[in-house]
Amino acid sequence: MNSQLTSSLNTIIKSIRLTLDDKRAQRIQSEQIRQTRIEHSPQFINGRVKSNIPSVETDDSFFGLLWKFFSTRSQYKPKHALPYQAVDTNKLQSRSQALRVTWLGHSSLFIEVDKQRILIDPVFEYAAPRFSSRLFKRNVAAPASKEALPLPDVILISHNHYDHLEESTARYYASKNVMFYVPLGVGRYLEKWGINPDSIQEFDWWENQILNGVQITATPANHNSARGLFDGNKTLWASWVIKAESGSVFYSGDTAYGAHFKAIGDKLGPFDLTFMEVAANVKGGKRFPVEAWGHMQASHTMQAHLDVQGDKLFPVHWSTYELFMHQWDEPVNDLIGEAQKTSIELVTPFIGQSVDLSQPISTHYWWQESSKVQNEIDDSLCLIKAR
Ligand SMILES: [Zn+2]
Repeated sequence: MNSQLTSSLNTIIKSIRLTLDDKRAQRIQSEQIRQTRIEHSPQFINGRVKSNIPSVETDDSFFGLLWKFFSTRSQYKPKHALPYQAVDTNKLQSRSQALRVTWLGHSSLFIEVDKQRILIDPVFEYAAPRFSSRLFKRNVAAPASKEALPLPDVILISHNHYDHLEESTARYYASKNVMFYVPLGVGRYLEKWGINPDSIQEFDWWENQILNGVQITATPANHNSARGLFDGNKTLWASWVIKAESGSVFYSGDTAYGAHFKAIGDKLGPFDLTFMEVAANVKGGKRFPVEAWGHMQASHTMQAHLDVQGDKLFPVHWSTYELFMHQWDEPVNDLIGEAQKTSIELVTPFIGQSVDLSQPISTHYWWQESSKVQNEIDDSLCLIKAR
């Protein structure tokens, strides 16, 4: 090898080393900032978030419940893969001034408002670590691939559970220069997956950021966090408020019912639309109450919507995966009962359908027609049977 070549190779190696050192130094610095913020955060004690999940009386042990969950859940699944509407990605290419919402299944949402694109809790595959992916696969295909969606201006994450934070999706957006807004501590995972610390903003509750005129605020939730055996409650969870000229939105994240909803309504309400997680009501004292897992029965979901001063209610966190011990469509059917009592309008589009909130909405209960839908594929709606 001639000396000129050796010298240029050395220069290249040196610059790679410097870049790696720079990156390492940047990550160390961002962890130091994170640690200091966590030490000063009123939500944390000794590096862990204080959890206020209600405890409930139960005869079942933890392992008894786990056994019941895995041994009975196949009976709760839909009999067929659920119908969905393929996302009209051409339509989404032109930015919407009005509030427009596309449900991607479970708690994943593509929200447009004031021409900003906000992607919430994007999960396109399963809701579990890879080794147990078969146990938590989807009841409905993702209505669009992440590659086909327009690039969002920001991605909001509510917490680190697998059905809200997907590693492969985060890695995909890492190279796309998209901003991530996440609860305090969650940036740790994103940095590990290759996202530049400059593209991550971590929020404690009630902190906000203005994104091209749209105010985005991290607000409280009552849940927990973990992705492995040793990171329990080491990162914060949150709900999110989006306030724009053409609409205001509240997203509950995962949460048990609590006083935080009233506080959010008082400080930041009212809202044109709320995205609320929902599970089935416990009936006749049977079944394990989901509040002990940091979630809401349908009656809680409705009360939370009223507390934050919501107008229309868009239920999420149902249909796509089996996470509880109830029929897959029981949460939303229970919520219809609650809506009848309170005269609240529900927004329940197909998964994948884009809804423009500035236009009149024709809500229909597609899951109650799903056996019909399976037989008659409606071409005008571009309905495709899930794989
Ligand atoms: Zn969760």
